[in-house]
Amino acid sequence: MSETALDAGFFLRWMTAAAASVDREASRLTDLDSAIGDADHGSNLQRGFAAVVKTLEAEPPQTPGAVLTTAGRQLISTVGGASGPLYGTLLRRTGKELGEAERVTVDELRTALRTAVDAVAQLGGSALGDATMLDALDPGVEALTTSFAAAAEAAGQGARDTVPLQARKGRASYLGARSIGHQDPGAASSALLFAALAEAADQGVAE
Ligand code: ADP
Ligand code: MG
Repeated sequence: MSETALDAGFFLRWMTAAAASVDREASRLTDLDSAIGDADHGSNLQRGFAAVVKTLEAEPPQTPGAVLTTAGRQLISTVGGASGPLYGTLLRRTGKELGEAERVTVDELRTALRTAVDAVAQLGGSALGDATMLDALDPGVEALTTSFAAAAEAAGQGARDTVPLQARKGRASYLGARSIGHQDPGAASSALLFAALAEAADQGVAE
């Protein structure tokens, strides 16, 4: 898999799959956020990814890096809340790390995502175990060394593993111990992002 070349088309398929998945799961994400937040996570991401797809379709960028920086910029300007800048940073930073290459390897993508996830942690002042999106993003990136499917599985498990944790960042942290017993909405949406990545890979990658 490390030899596989990912082109701009692959990254466009990733963003399209992410938008479709966020659309399908919007009410679940909002339900999770209504339990421990302000019930807007699904609609926030739905609006954001719809804007991402619209922009990418209007003028498809020619490189992997440009697809992700464009997507990240759209998320920052349309999502708002805590998750907009965090997801925007994730994609923009990943895109920046990929530079101007026309094709990137899975290993280059993993390294770029690693740097971007660390940037998200820094921006949020959050660490693993704080019951945030980081708890799905981090295991997802680490499992990318194995396969896209393994990354999706690990991110999903990471999201489910936030249930017994007390939220230490974001709105859910205002609840203190009452946040225990709920899955973090941002971790759930991060798992969707990794599932969409695996979906894009299933649709075929250029060899
Ligand atoms: P808001 O909390 O502003 O309503 P959203 O509902 O869209 O924004 O997103 C909430 C999610 O953002 C949380 O479930 C959590 O995963 C993530 N989040 C919030 N604050 C932080 C932070 N400081 N660090 C990392 N992730 C965070
Ligand atoms: Mg919210």
